[in-house]
Amino acid sequence: MKAAAFDYLRPASLGEALALLATHKDDCKILAGGQSLVPAMNFRLARPAILIDINDLDELDHLRADAGQLKIGALTRHAAFHRPVVEGPLGTLLAKVVRHIAHYPIRQRGTFAGSLSHADPASEWCLVATTLRAEMVAKSARGERVIAASDFFHGTFTTALEPDEILAEIRLPIMTPDWRVGFYEFSRRAGDFALGMAVAAAKVEDGTIREARLGVGGVGDRAIRLGALEDQLVGTPASSDVIDSIDRIAREARGMIEPSGDIHASPEYRRDLIAASVKRALTEALA
Ligand SMILES: Cc1cc2nc3c(=O)[nH]c(=O)nc-3n(C[C@H](O)[C@H](O)[C@H](O)COP(=O)(O)OP(=O)(O)OC[C@H]3O[C@@H](n4cnc5c(N)ncnc54)[C@H](O)[C@@H]3O)c2cc1C
Repeated sequence: MKAAAFDYLRPASLGEALALLATHKDDCKILAGGQSLVPAMNFRLARPAILIDINDLDELDHLRADAGQLKIGALTRHAAFHRPVVEGPLGTLLAKVVRHIAHYPIRQRGTFAGSLSHADPASEWCLVATTLRAEMVAKSARGERVIAASDFFHGTFTTALEPDEILAEIRLPIMTPDWRVGFYEFSRRAGDFALGMAVAAAKVEDGTIREARLGVGGVGDRAIRLGALEDQLVGTPASSDVIDSIDRIAREARGMIEPSGDIHASPEYRRDLIAASVKRALTEALA
């Protein structure tokens, strides 16, 4: 199928784009990389009357470290992360994760902000943003607001963004060198969406875990931060003893999710997959 007819607008400045969004609100959709929106339009799952193409907005085309945060502008493509974009564990983690997102040509067009706005529960960037406690900067003609990742994702394809808002920037905390990171994803073929995945990070000082981040994705209506398990990791010695803790935490993670079944995997299979993903991500980070 082909998309239903639509008008195409290409603003030259952020101010112009925000004015267009304020005027057209529910009738329009922002076009970033088009890698999720255009297929949805072609299947007529999305039928926006107007597309507002943001690709000319230089104000949104940035990627920089600033005041302890990695600031990712809305036009930053997935491919920007193929090499570490910042020194240390965060850059290493993002470069590992990005290889699991779709295929090379899609990564050249699709954007980090587009993934978060689209809010697919199996999106790798949604998992990273949730687990690492990102902040989202939403702009509209009414002003600017900063939304914590914990408040941003409302469910499958649903976020806290209002129809007149653009996700202008995502801010990720930059990890100091004493953080250790791990990621594991299982999908049926390279480039497919994840059936299950986990991100783990731990700050280790004097041989002991002082802070922890643990999240899983692909098994619910949004990525899930396993805060109770993060708390259990804190205070654990990061020595060979940690293996016992990792086994226990992986078993507990299995019981903390309620996946549904589909043609790809049963709920039981997904629970096992999450336990294995948590174990592998934590082992990569700590063992
Ligand atoms: C074959 C295939 C495989 C894929 N595999 C994966 C995968 O494994 N993992 C994964 O995470 N993704 C995958 N994707 C999706 C891909 O990552 C998309 O690039 C991404 O989901 C959306 O980014 P985009 O820039 O293309 O957004 P678009 O398609 O342009 O937009 C997506 C939605 O977000 C809105 N939007 C975009 N930018 C903004 C913004 N700045 N502010 C507010 N709203 C905005 C749009 O209005 C639209 O509703 C795959 C896509 C394809 C076609």
